[in-house]
Amino acid sequence: MRVLLWFRKDLRLDDHTALAEADRDAAGDVVPFYTSEPAVLGRSDMAATRVRFVLDSLRELASRIEAAGSHLALDHGDAAVTVLRAARAAGADAVYWNDEYEPQLRARDAAVAAALTAAGVRVKRFHDRLLVPPGEVATGAGTPFTVFSPFRRACEKLELSRPQPAITRFAPHDLPRRDVAMLAQLGFNEPSSTPWPAGASAGESRLAEFLGDAAAGLAHYATQRDVPSVRAHARISADLKFGTLGIRRVAQSALAAARADASLTPHTDKFVAELRWRDFYAHVLHAFPHCEHRAFRPEYDALVWRGTDAWFDAWREGRTGYPIVDAGMRELVATGFMHNRVRMVVASFLTKDLLIDWRRGERHFMQHLIDGDLANNNGGWQWAAGTGTDAAPYFRIFNPVLQGLRFDADGAYVRRWVPELAALPGRHLHAPWDAPPLLLAEHGVTLGETYPFPIVDHDVQRAAALAMYADVKGA
Ligand SMILES: Cc1cc2nc3c(=O)[nH]c(=O)nc-3n(C[C@H](O)[C@H](O)[C@H](O)COP(=O)(O)OP(=O)(O)OC[C@H]3O[C@@H](n4cnc5c(N)ncnc54)[C@H](O)[C@@H]3O)c2cc1C
Repeated sequence: MRVLLWFRKDLRLDDHTALAEADRDAAGDVVPFYTSEPAVLGRSDMAATRVRFVLDSLRELASRIEAAGSHLALDHGDAAVTVLRAARAAGADAVYWNDEYEPQLRARDAAVAAALTAAGVRVKRFHDRLLVPPGEVATGAGTPFTVFSPFRRACEKLELSRPQPAITRFAPHDLPRRDVAMLAQLGFNEPSSTPWPAGASAGESRLAEFLGDAAAGLAHYATQRDVPSVRAHARISADLKFGTLGIRRVAQSALAAARADASLTPHTDKFVAELRWRDFYAHVLHAFPHCEHRAFRPEYDALVWRGTDAWFDAWREGRTGYPIVDAGMRELVATGFMHNRVRMVVASFLTKDLLIDWRRGERHFMQHLIDGDLANNNGGWQWAAGTGTDAAPYFRIFNPVLQGLRFDADGAYVRRWVPELAALPGRHLHAPWDAPPLLLAEHGVTLGETYPFPIVDHDVQRAAALAMYADVKGA
C-alpha cells in the first residue's frame, strides 16, 4: 500500500501522528506532499512574516526529506484539486493527514475528503494538533466547556499523550520536482522585515533553550513569565501554529525537565497549564464557530463602539501617549511578536479605553503576528474585550500605568521600544505627563513634540466603557 502524506500546519518529521501512522501502515511507502492554497495564503489578514515562516520551514522539511532519499512534492491551488491530482500521480491508495479545527479549514478538508473518496482513494485523518482533541472532554451536562479552569481540570484527568517517533523514511516517487521558490514566485513571498528563524530545527533550538536556560527560561516561568523584558517564556507559539514542534514533544519535554530537577515542577505545571489555553480556544472555536466573526456572548454584538479612526491609527502606530501600550504596538510591528502580558494590556486599552471594536484589533494583530492564529487570537481578543468565554466580568479594565509599573518595574521594556523616553527615571517612565516639566526637559522629553500627550484620559474612558457595557447589559 502507498500513502500520500499531506503536510499542512505540521511541518516536521518528529511527533507527527499522521506520518507515523502512514509509515507503519505502508511500511515506508509514503509520498510526502504539500500544497499552498490561494484561499488560505491570499487572505487579506495574512501577514508576510507568517508566509515567510512557512516557506522557510518548507525548505528545511524538503531538505530533510531529500536526505531520506525522496523529495517533497509541491503544488499550488485549490486543495480539492491538488491533493487528488497528487494522489493519482503518485498511485496512492490512501491520503493521510492531521486534522485542523478552524471553520474554513474544516470545510476545505471536507471538500478534499469528498473528492478523494469519490475517486476511490481512501482518506485517514488524525488528531495531532492539540493535547486533547475537540469533543474529548465535556461538562457534566455533556456540553462543551466555556470556562477555562474546569476545562483544564477535566483535561488533567486524561493521561498526557506521548510523542510519536520521528520518521525518516519516504518513498522515491515521480511527482514533479519543484523548488519551494515555486511557491514564493506565486506572490506569497512579500519581504518580511521580521527575521524569525523558521523550520523544525529552529523550533527545537527554541524549546531546548527555554528548557535548559537556568538564567531565564522554564526555571523562571511561574514567577517571571509576565515580565516582558525577561525571557522567561518559550517563544514557541509560531512553532505550535505551523507545527514545526509537536505539542506532545513540547509538553513531555517540560515534564521530563521537572523529573530531572524537582525544583522545576511548579514552573512546568504552569507551562503545561498555559499550553492548555491553546487547546481551550481551539475547542471553543470548534464548538462555537460563530466566534470567528461575532461575540461569543451574543448580547455583546449590540455594543456601540464609539472610538475614532484617529485613535485607532495612534494605537496601531504606537503613539497613544501610554508608554507600555506604545512599546507593545511597536514591538509587534518591528518583530511580529508581542509579549502575552502586553497583548492583554494593549487589547484592553483598544477596547476599553479607546472604545474600539475588538475585531479591528484582532485583524491588526493577524496582519503582523508571526504566531497569528484564529483560535488563540480571537480567544485573546474576546477575553480582553469581555465578550468571550472569560468567567470574569466585563468591568475588568486594565490601568495601563499600573500594568507598566507592575510588570515593567525597571522600565527595561518601555526603554527598549520607546527610546524617546529612555532617559526618564523609572517612576515617571510609565506616566510621563505626571512628571515635573523641568525634569522632562532635563531628560530631553517635550510632551506633544518628542512624545505624545495621552490621547485619552484613562479614568474618563474607564467610566465611558463601563457605561457602554452597562447599556448592553441593561438591554
Ligand atoms: C489579545 C491576544 C491575542 C493573542 N493572539 C495569539 C495568536 O494569534 N497566536 C498565539 O499563538 N497566541 C496568541 N495569544 C496568546 C499568547 O499571547 C501567545 O501564545 C504567547 O504570547 C506566545 O508566547 P510564548 O510561546 O513565549 O508563550 P509561553 O508563555 O511560553 O506559552 C507556551 C505556549 O502556550 C500557548 N499559550 C500560552 N498562553 C496562551 C494563551 N493565553 N492563549 C492561547 N495559547 C497560549 C502558546 O501556544 C504558547 O506558545 C494572544 C493573547 C492575547 C491576549
